[in-house]
Amino acid sequence: MATKFPPAPKVGMVSLGCPKALVDSERILTKLRSDGYQMSPDYAGADVVLVNTCGFLDSAKEESLEAIGEAIAENGRVIVTGCMGNEAELIRQRFPQVLAVTGAHQYEDVVNAVHEASPPVPNAFVDLVPEGGLKLTPRHYSYLKISEGCNHRCAFCIIPSLRGDLVSRRIDAVLREAEKLVQAGTRELLVISQDTSAYGVDVRHEERQWKDHAVRTHMTDLARELGNLGTPENPVWVRLHYVYPYPHVDQVIPLMAEGKITPYLDIPFQHASPKVLSAMKRPANEAKVLERIRNWREICPDIAIRSSFVVGFPGETEEDFRYLLDWLDEAQLDRVGAFRFEPVEGAAANALPDPVPEEVKEERYQRIMEKTAAISAAKLQAKTGRTLPVIIDEVGEADEDGSIGATARSQADAPEIDGNVFLRDVQQGYPALKPGDIIAVAIEDADEHDLYGVPVPNQPR
Ligand code: SF4
Repeated sequence: MATKFPPAPKVGMVSLGCPKALVDSERILTKLRSDGYQMSPDYAGADVVLVNTCGFLDSAKEESLEAIGEAIAENGRVIVTGCMGNEAELIRQRFPQVLAVTGAHQYEDVVNAVHEASPPVPNAFVDLVPEGGLKLTPRHYSYLKISEGCNHRCAFCIIPSLRGDLVSRRIDAVLREAEKLVQAGTRELLVISQDTSAYGVDVRHEERQWKDHAVRTHMTDLARELGNLGTPENPVWVRLHYVYPYPHVDQVIPLMAEGKITPYLDIPFQHASPKVLSAMKRPANEAKVLERIRNWREICPDIAIRSSFVVGFPGETEEDFRYLLDWLDEAQLDRVGAFRFEPVEGAAANALPDPVPEEVKEERYQRIMEKTAAISAAKLQAKTGRTLPVIIDEVGEADEDGSIGATARSQADAPEIDGNVFLRDVQQGYPALKPGDIIAVAIEDADEHDLYGVPVPNQPR
């Protein structure tokens, strides 16, 4: 018997303006087609109508407004995009019933608006792309990019000249993507950007509707909403990367203490000496960081702080470097990566005086690695005897005596960059263990970077 597929939603398109706008229309339609939508040649057959507008001249604007009016009269369900989308208020004043207004080149926004107005019908037989999209990471963890570009101008970095200033994604689009990823099997969301704490600064933290309430384009709102995606049966870890210690970072620590988001902060401090930080032109470079770290740990004792540091930056003296080592003694960071300064073509730091000789850089690098390995070893040792939740990355084959090992991570370990928790005898209590499962583990042993343990069945996670 032939399989009957559910009917796909139909999209009508009115495309106005120059060839660039036409290309935009084609891109939008191509994406919608690949998402399973059908095209409608007339207003009557369309579930939703897209009007791609032109706003170059007053006459073009008037033509665009007329086209929107016609689409509303003929169909009623209209989304406006294109150059006139930058005048959203004018459009909404004249046509309050439009479903959404997005600007030129905002493909993701307009496609999301169509998905919202007329959701695609998932069809396992014909969809090339699984729900949640194609992923390069394993199915159980996913990177969630919230913005592109950066407003800072750190002296060693060329990202702003390559990628431009900060452009934040719409928070409702980010949350929708996260929700889809979770529905498709993701158990850990890794929030990434160039500067996660600055999320939404470019759009003045504008509010968007998400489900039945408004959310601000802001790191705290984002963290809270992502923290709501998991359930006690299906917990979802939410890990924040590239956070600069602006004052509002304090607001996410209680979410960690409540178990809403993972107690982990990746803060690229890069140095501690005020003189070097100021030469580096680092953001949120303020003196009270140690005090704040102490406060964070009081609120959330299990918080793991990861950071990276550059040694041998031009002008770094032995005194600056010792300041950094002393600072690390105080800060007791959980995970640290260190780099020897390298001049990147185009970076402002290359022109700074007093370059540090290579052999001095190397010697400092060895010293910081020794220091941070000792701190890490002591902190991991202190975890032995505790029972911790871990997420499974890989389950091994059974050896001759039938025992099975697994590689996992604790909440203090981001994939690829931090350590692991190696498990033995997972067949006892967890015969069907698979990647992405979150289980409780009794920690038996530790070394400089990793933990070793055995699963504890029937424990809350
Ligand atoms: S290093 Fe500085 S300039 Fe470069 S992306 Fe990060 S915050 Fe922006």
